Amino acid sequence: MIKIPIHIIGGGTAALFLAAALDTTKYQVTIYERNKAPGRKFLVAGDGGLNLSYNETPEKMLGRYMPTNLFHSLSPYLNVEAIRSWFRGIGIETYVGSSNRVFPIEGIKPITVLNALLETLAQKGVTIKTEHEWIGFSESNHVLIHNPNGTFELDEGKVVFALGGASWKKTGSAGEWLHHFAEKGIRTKPFQPSNCAFEIKWPVDVSGKLAGQPLKNVSVTCGTKAVSGEVVLTKFGIEGSGIYPLSGKIREALNENSEACIFIDFKPVWTAARIHEVFIKTKGNTSDRLRQGLKLAPPVMLLLKQFLPKETFTNMELLCKALKAFPLRITATAPLDEAISTVGGIDCDEVDQKFELKKLKNYFVIGEQLDWDAPTGGYLITGCFAQAMHLAAALNHRVD
Ligand SMILES: Cc1cc2nc3c(=O)[nH]c(=O)nc-3n(C[C@H](O)[C@H](O)[C@H](O)COP(=O)(O)OP(=O)(O)OC[C@H]3O[C@@H](n4cnc5c(N)ncnc54)[C@H](O)[C@@H]3O)c2cc1C
Repeated sequence: MIKIPIHIIGGGTAALFLAAALDTTKYQVTIYERNKAPGRKFLVAGDGGLNLSYNETPEKMLGRYMPTNLFHSLSPYLNVEAIRSWFRGIGIETYVGSSNRVFPIEGIKPITVLNALLETLAQKGVTIKTEHEWIGFSESNHVLIHNPNGTFELDEGKVVFALGGASWKKTGSAGEWLHHFAEKGIRTKPFQPSNCAFEIKWPVDVSGKLAGQPLKNVSVTCGTKAVSGEVVLTKFGIEGSGIYPLSGKIREALNENSEACIFIDFKPVWTAARIHEVFIKTKGNTSDRLRQGLKLAPPVMLLLKQFLPKETFTNMELLCKALKAFPLRITATAPLDEAISTVGGIDCDEVDQKFELKKLKNYFVIGEQLDWDAPTGGYLITGCFAQAMHLAAALNHRVD
């Protein structure tokens, strides 16, 4: 049987999942990666612990992704058990950490996971062509690939773009391809950082004291959305698990008003009435009551002292209120290149439910190259996994 060529452009996370799931008795699969090796961002993702997914119900998980309609049909794969069992199938056991995040079991390094993926592809006969860069479309809409020996055109088969987003450019995902699609009438959106740090213009005298201090077990609100987690104070501003999931809301406010206001609840499991009661019962001055009665950590004390007006700090009612909704003004996102992920890229309305470009038949797009968003916590890799599995299933059943 003559196999149909499938050219996967970009050799990152989504591409590797896709190639592993394609039916190689039907398709001749080739990955074209501009770097000397595939999966560089996957390895970077593993630097602080390779968080592959998040242990929660499929319904909850679906709610993490924007736009939801892109992910609705992915439900069989947007599922922590699906991704864990898939990794088990390639020899990578995972565990659920105390934070509900899913990681490879202790002793399995990110490079081992990548190698297991690459080994799976080798067994299936997938070809990986490194130092092969996509440079645009030919006049006849074919893909043009440049390698150290020259430029050639892919004029047969199907093409899947999986070029990634536009942060951590050194991993190869530089996002400089927007115009190639725009020239074909395909709607694109400029890239913006997501899951990133945000700038707070701390007064010069306090920024040094705050840098590196964590605010543990707080809840942060931006607009109508609240998130619990840890916020780390840095010289630049703030970052951490308690802030990344608010990236979308903060970005929206920054785009509209050039600033965003967030409110920190330092005692999220305490009611205002309980805070008030403990404050009154505790002996000593205001600082003693905050430290000893309410058990506020030093960085919280520092924030309260530095930023609350004297009238608030010395007024019990106002001070207790401020502990539940301490305002901070965000003035900018971190630079694009430093973000964990990006939004922007190809508008999701440009692809159908099977990730095929509506305006270019037999061309597909998956992964961070599409304009979707999800918080860190394993959702980005799971999102790539679900898109890749869904597309592979669709292509494996396709008759043309
Ligand atoms: C610091 C950091 C930590 C992260 N941690 C996590 C985590 O713990 N959990 C999680 O779920 N996610 C995490 N992520 C996000 C996750 O790594 C990405 O969302 C995911 O890798 C995106 O996969 P992708 O295939 O869409 O793109 P990528 O993995 O970026 O792959 C795109 C590939 O396309 C190649 N390419 C680009 N242009 C061309 C071209 N013109 N020709 C040929 N090849 C090209 C690139 O070189 C690259 O290899 C992290 C990201 C970063 C930066």
